[in-house]
Amino acid sequence: MEKARIFYRPRIDRIGLGLLVSIFLLLLTNRTFWSKIHLYLAAQPAAIWMLYLGMAALFTAAVTLLSVGPLAKPVYSLLIVAAAIGSWFTDRFGVVIDADMVRNAFQTTPAEAGHLITTGFLVHMLLFAALPIGLVFWLRTIRRPFLQSAMRKAVVIAACLLVAGGVALGFSKSYATAIRQHKDILQSLNPATPIDGTIKFLMQAGETAYIAAQPIGTDARIVASAPGKPRVTIIVAGETARAANFSLGGYARDTNPELARQDIVYFPKATSCGTATATSIPCMFSMFPRARYSHRKGLENEGLLDVLSHAGADVAWWDNNTGSKGVADRVTFIDLVKIADPRFCADGECQDSVLLDRLDAWLDSVEKDSVLVLHTIGSHGPTYYLRYPPEFRRFTPDCRTAELANCTDAEIVNAYDNTILYTDHVLSTIIDALKARSGTLETSMIYMSDHGESLGENGLYLHGTPYFLAPDFQTHIPFLVWMDPAFMRSTGLDRACMLAAAGKPASHDNLFHSVLGMMNVRTKVYDPGLDVFAGCRKAVSS
Ligand SMILES: [Zn+2]
Repeated sequence: MEKARIFYRPRIDRIGLGLLVSIFLLLLTNRTFWSKIHLYLAAQPAAIWMLYLGMAALFTAAVTLLSVGPLAKPVYSLLIVAAAIGSWFTDRFGVVIDADMVRNAFQTTPAEAGHLITTGFLVHMLLFAALPIGLVFWLRTIRRPFLQSAMRKAVVIAACLLVAGGVALGFSKSYATAIRQHKDILQSLNPATPIDGTIKFLMQAGETAYIAAQPIGTDARIVASAPGKPRVTIIVAGETARAANFSLGGYARDTNPELARQDIVYFPKATSCGTATATSIPCMFSMFPRARYSHRKGLENEGLLDVLSHAGADVAWWDNNTGSKGVADRVTFIDLVKIADPRFCADGECQDSVLLDRLDAWLDSVEKDSVLVLHTIGSHGPTYYLRYPPEFRRFTPDCRTAELANCTDAEIVNAYDNTILYTDHVLSTIIDALKARSGTLETSMIYMSDHGESLGENGLYLHGTPYFLAPDFQTHIPFLVWMDPAFMRSTGLDRACMLAAAGKPASHDNLFHSVLGMMNVRTKVYDPGLDVFAGCRKAVSS
């Protein structure tokens, strides 16, 4: 006798359920993909409609292949969750979830992740993940003997592949041309892209888990500068600042009022190594130029801070971001976010004033040549409004929510510009602190952002677009240098030559070699061709 059932649960064939899941994934989590297809193939409607058929067949074949016995429903759920997360970021922000993006997600802080989990995100996950998964588990699948089930699956997969293959062959010219001309098409396909990104990230993580950095520049030594006057360079690693919004680089709004009054050298043509923190930071501090850099090579070799240590300099990294990404593993590292001083910090994040707070005390304690890295939170979004104190809320109305969809682009830009205004103040304050010590120290500051940001141009927000697709807004970065006159004199630099050098294209490739040059470090890993000021140094008589 059959058990009495309180809840009605309709029965469905397992292949039918797989088909439903495929259609759901294809049509409801791929808005970006289909809008691109309709745009790029607009002249060929037949190719568009046949692609729906071909993709449905391909998805059904893949889902059917993955539905193995009792694992079928959990596998469907994983696919649905991946597609739902992917569609939120792709459709809402234009963000592509590739391996770099997944690495970024794994290295992020809970506070940063918290900002992305908004009410909008939760509603989206409820509608596009929880609801369909509930439906999948509500339906009862019809059980069949193993052999019969396997045969049916094989037939369905073969038929689907035949259909997909037929469509691909019939329109191969249209599809191949579209994909070749618009590499972004496949990058927006859910859940293929997020799953592919996660697998690639896990493979890379597995391969690189046991890599120990090989020493480099162990021959490094500091060529003596003025006796009794230690040489100090502060490297400010910026966050998400884009050159387009720096008035120093020609932006119409005055976002750099304080730096404009300092004697800085601004590089208007500087580009980043990556479009995300986890890619750019290790690349910036590595000796390799972008063309020869890889994440693995970054881990396999020591970087700038190690070479400075070998040379005998004091080196420290103060972090107000998500860590040094391995760059400061072998030097003094202070995590200011963890200290969570309530004067500057709330909810697991601090404003950049936390970096200024202890700077004077540190400068007063300097006894030998030193390099200090300040890793800022800068302009990190989507919560731009949390980055600046009320005094810097000058461009209004400013977007005051993590839910960018609830703000106009003008409000988003206002909030973003306030973060640049505040960064301007932080940098200028550092320069003032250095100037105040011109009697006891020879000082300099070098500032470089890790990557830029999209603020709604072409429907893109945030950053992390694969480099070859990324708009200039994400790769064109602010880069500037300030030097105390004594610091310049002791290495025979003159300002006119430095300003001329700054007019040439520069990039993250230059940080490693330029800082070695600034700190008077001689080593065989130093490449004067990548030191932005090498051509300006005159031999200094001792
Ligand atoms: Zn970043």
